[in-house]
Amino acid sequence: MYQAFLIKYAEIGIKGKNRYIFEDALVEHIRRALKKVEGNFRVTKEQGRIYAFPEEAYDFEETVEALKRVFGIAAICPVVVTEDQGYEKLAEAVVGYVQKVYPASTRSFKVHARRARKSYPMDSMELNRELGGAILAACPGMRVDVHQPDIWLTVEVRQKIYIYSEEIPGPGGMPVGTNGSAMLLLSGGIDSPVAGYMIAKRGVKIDAVYFHAPPYTSDRAKQKVIDLARLVARYSGPIRLHIVNFTDIQLAIYEKCPHDELTIIMRRYMMKIAEKMAEEDGSLALITGESIGQVASQTVHSLACTNEVCTLPVFRPLIGFDKQEIVDISLKIGTYETSVLPYEDCCTIFVAKHPVTKPNLRTIRHSEEKLADVIDGLLDEAVQSAEVMEIEE
Ligand code: ATP
Ligand code: MG
Repeated sequence: MYQAFLIKYAEIGIKGKNRYIFEDALVEHIRRALKKVEGNFRVTKEQGRIYAFPEEAYDFEETVEALKRVFGIAAICPVVVTEDQGYEKLAEAVVGYVQKVYPASTRSFKVHARRARKSYPMDSMELNRELGGAILAACPGMRVDVHQPDIWLTVEVRQKIYIYSEEIPGPGGMPVGTNGSAMLLLSGGIDSPVAGYMIAKRGVKIDAVYFHAPPYTSDRAKQKVIDLARLVARYSGPIRLHIVNFTDIQLAIYEKCPHDELTIIMRRYMMKIAEKMAEEDGSLALITGESIGQVASQTVHSLACTNEVCTLPVFRPLIGFDKQEIVDISLKIGTYETSVLPYEDCCTIFVAKHPVTKPNLRTIRHSEEKLADVIDGLLDEAVQSAEVMEIEE
């Protein structure tokens, strides 16, 4: 039934002189998203509006689902496009639209005519009045409300005539890549995929690093992280995933440092390695799924200790979220089911029974000195032996 989709964007609209950069990026992302669905689409930017026109048979649901994952889209409006064959035909098309989209409705409406083609013989006031009258005559249950209508029916006169009223919410945010790139520390849990999603939503291209500890962690655990990266990539676009073998570092820490400090020391080396990877990839920040107080390694004291090793900014978009709020987002974006698969994580294997919750930075540094002979070599080895994968949805 629909011959076009009008794409509304919110925040990009206010970017002043740079607006075209955001718009062009959004057009590119829409094109890419629609390449993956059945049928060919023409995507255009005209007069500050973005349209996607299907050029052959297409699947409506699949198309909308794809568009709902493109950051920068505030709303998707399915549009009926008709040829201009005079007012009578137009009134027929508008009434037909209302009867089909709102059958036997008793809701209120308002016609909002826009004349992009000024040579059209009726002006927008006349169109509003006449079309409103035609709808009232054909749909007896409906009424006009110009102040707070249930249905806001736009009739746009361009070369052809565009009729739409529905707005399907998009994901919001900004087009990926318009805001630099960052390195996500991606574990197999619930939180880090959500953290990556949230930063990508702000227009940041993301890459990822995963630390595993074979043979203590299995290939299935690694596959789970690859699967999660793929799910996040449905929104963020391609992710370069670095898989770092962390076993020797963990064993060295386990052997030489106090066990109640294992997690915190391990987290510090993870951040260090992630920062190295970020610098190599041209990423300007790190991203973690940490949330204050969630576990011993995420108390404010622990976060301060972990943060201390990095000079890049660390984005922690979930920092003030409760677990349930994070779960809700992971359900919404479709990562939850994969996240809860019960495979071991490198953090859980070497974890102490009673980890420190208020680590003292000086004590931690003192413990790390016991690794002085070996750690530089181990860090270099971990970085150099990392496996890199390009993950696409
Ligand atoms: P996650 O949410 O993703 O499961 P978590 O609740 O298990 O996190 P921690 O294990 O303390 O919490 O990890 C905190 C953060 O550190 C994670 O959100 C993630 O960003 C990073 N992280 C933890 N383990 C790994 C890992 N094996 N590889 C990469 N990053 C990790
Ligand atoms: Mg976890």
